[in-house]
Order: sequence, then structure tokens, then C-alpha cells
Amino acid sequence: MKYFSTRNNNQSYSFKDAVLHGLAPDGGLFVPENIHNLNLDFKKISTNYDIKEIALNISKNFIAEEIPEDQLINIIEKTLSFPSPLVRLTAQVQIQELFHGPTLAFKDFGACFMANVMDYFVRNSDRELNILVATSGDTGSAVASGFLGIPRINVFILYPNGKVSEVQEKQFTTLGNNITALRIDGTFDDCQNLVKEAFQDSLLKSKINLSSANSINIARLIPQTFYYFDGFLQTRQNHKVVFSVPSGNLGNLTAGVIAKKMGLPVKKFVAATNRNNVFTEYLISGRYQSKKSVQTFSNAMDVGKPSNLERLGWIYGNDIFKFRNDIASFSFSDSETVRAIQLVQDSHNYILDPHGAIGYLALAKYQQSLADSHTGVILETAHYSKFLEVIKLALPQNKLSLHERLSKCLNTESKFVPLSNEYAELKEYLLNF
Ligand SMILES: *Cc1c(COP(=O)(O)O)cnc(C)c1O
Repeated sequence: MKYFSTRNNNQSYSFKDAVLHGLAPDGGLFVPENIHNLNLDFKKISTNYDIKEIALNISKNFIAEEIPEDQLINIIEKTLSFPSPLVRLTAQVQIQELFHGPTLAFKDFGACFMANVMDYFVRNSDRELNILVATSGDTGSAVASGFLGIPRINVFILYPNGKVSEVQEKQFTTLGNNITALRIDGTFDDCQNLVKEAFQDSLLKSKINLSSANSINIARLIPQTFYYFDGFLQTRQNHKVVFSVPSGNLGNLTAGVIAKKMGLPVKKFVAATNRNNVFTEYLISGRYQSKKSVQTFSNAMDVGKPSNLERLGWIYGNDIFKFRNDIASFSFSDSETVRAIQLVQDSHNYILDPHGAIGYLALAKYQQSLADSHTGVILETAHYSKFLEVIKLALPQNKLSLHERLSKCLNTESKFVPLSNEYAELKEYLLNF
């Protein structure tokens, strides 16, 4: 399979190039030459299916002969080593739990797959690979856990001092091994700028082999299509399903749209946003206007400039009517988020996290507009105990505790390297590593 930049369809790249570059040299995002329909017969497979077989089929379409089949099987085994079960609130409202991975968020699927793909590509190289990633919380822990222990790859996580939660910081500062946490005296934007500067520094790049692991990497999108198929098949019916997707950078939504192009029976995607509703407004007005992000309870969706929108635009030929045909979008406030958490706990005895709560609200709003009932699947993107302060606010009567995977790292000592937000300091550190 050939890959192209969203901004130039003359120059083609291999899958390996697309993964190791992350972003195309012209600033565009890598997209595959085409997206094959899998031609699955859902009537036949709905009672007895193997999601790993479907995942292999998908991966072969995107990667072809660049990774041999036995290696791909190995990568898929690791990526799907945790389940994504469906929990039924009602026949029309079901929750797909994507948080059973090591860091309790759906980003584990993408990070694990990407790490193992990169492992394959650098295994026989004589140079070490250095991954830089800026994080405001969730990405850092998923990437760190995905790459932990992979030989020849060093991971540097840049995070803003005092601006990530204690649990989040613990998740990527307690691993050690090939994972180094760099605590930057500055904001998340400073961290992102430092990473950008490093990528533009040809002297640094001539000395060390650099790559990025942020959410625009094509290797993170491929495994995110797997669980859409798994979710649909678990509904055990043949009607088209509505997927509600808590959205920020739109990576999860883009993976869903790709799954639909591969033949998954989807009636509609509902892109659920918080007050950072750039995408919701784009669907309404047809004009894209980025904004400065604002902080909310569902902070992993606090994005003012969704990076995967360019990929969606490529898929839909930038035709707003095609966007609207496949996707609806609604946005909700923090107080509505809290009320949804209360409502679902009261009526179904189920605790949603703030991101899933927005997914719940958006599905309900979309279903109001439908004449007949449809099965809706809400992607629950994180375990609620990652956002315990918000949950305690919503459910003050409940006895709540941290997931054991989180309390375990809280009791481990943190290790990090403190750096200023001056690029020269980061550069010197990396050159002497
Ligand atoms: C990253 C994240 C999202 C947003 O996903 P995108 O692919 O960026 O749209 C939603 N919920 C949680 C918990 C996340 O960590």
C-alpha cells in the first residue's frame, strides 16, 4: 500500500516511511492510497467471530508485505490482549468499554500497535530510535506503556510542570527502563513547541534518529478501527449501528469513518464534544474556524485545532454535505456532563467518566431526532477513576476508589529530569543522552 500526504498526491511513501516520519514533510498527514472494503458477510459471522482474524485482514490491507504475516499476528495479539466489552444500558443504548488496557484509556490500542510496528522496523537497524512526545496527560502514559521495554527505542515524554494530575504524572514517571520523563518548566504549548523545534533542527537530526508518537501517526489509527468491528459484532444484530464518539483531535472518529469505508454497517457517527466545539460548529456552518482551547472536566477533549480534521477532509473531498451525511455532532457543558454522570448512575447503576458522559448526551440528542429506534453504541474512552475529582463532585454519596492499576503506581517513586522551556537545554540533554 502506498501512502500520500493530504497536501500532495504526487509523492508516495511506504508504510514504514509514513510511520517513522509521523507527519509528511510538507506538513500534511499521511493517508493510504485507498481504503479497501473487507467484504465481510456480517450475517454469517455475527454469531461466531474472531476479532483477531478481522484485525489481521485490516492490517494486511494497510501494511501489505512490509511486515510479514507472522509478525503482524504477533503485533495484533499484543494490541488485542485486553477486551473491549459491550455493556447494555438499554437495547438502544450500549456502552463499549475501551479502557481495559494498561493505562485505562482507549489510547492504549493505538500506542501498543504503533510501538510494536516501530519495534519491527528498527529491530535490524544499527541506530537507536528516539521518540519525543509532548503530553498534557493521557497520551504520555499510553505511549510510555506501549514502548516500555522495547529494545533500541528511547522514549522522552515532555510534560508541563504542575499541569498534569498526580495520577497522570505517576503513570509515566514511574516506569523507568527506556522511558524518560522530562518535566518542563512551562505550559503544554511550550512542550509541543520544544518537540517541533527538535524536529526542525537538522543538526540534532543528523546526530540522533528522531521520531514522533503523537496522535496523527497513521499507525495509531489502524488498530482503532478494530474495536468498531468488535463493537458492532457484539450488538449481535444486522441493522446499522449509531456510534457516539467523544472527540478531541478526531483520531477516534477518523478511525470509525475508515471502518465504515471498509464495510462496517454504520448508520451515523455522533461526534460528541465539550465546550471546545470547533468540529460541531464546522458541521453546522460549513466553515472551519480554530479556537483557543478552554479547560473542561473532559480535558482529553480540550482541543481547539483538531489535528485529524485534515484527514477527514481528505476522505470526504472537503465536501460538507458528505461530512453531514455520515456525522452528526453535539456539544455539552461541564454542568450537563455532571448531570449525565448522575443520571446514568441513578437509572442504570453505571459510572461513566466525563468523556463517556458527553458521548451519552450526544447519543441521546441524536436519537431524539430519529423516527425509529436504532442501536447506539457509546465509546467509553477512559475508566472513570482517572477523573476521580469530577466523579466525586457528581456522586458525593458514592464510595469511590481508584482502579488498582492507578493506586499501584501512586505508591511507586517518580523519576523525572527537570528542564527549563529553553530549546538549547533540551538539545544539549538529548545530544548527551
Ligand atoms: C484522547 C481522548 C479522547 C479524544 O480522542 P480523539 O481521538 O483525540 O478525538 C477522548 N477521551 C479520552 C479519555 C481521551 O484520552
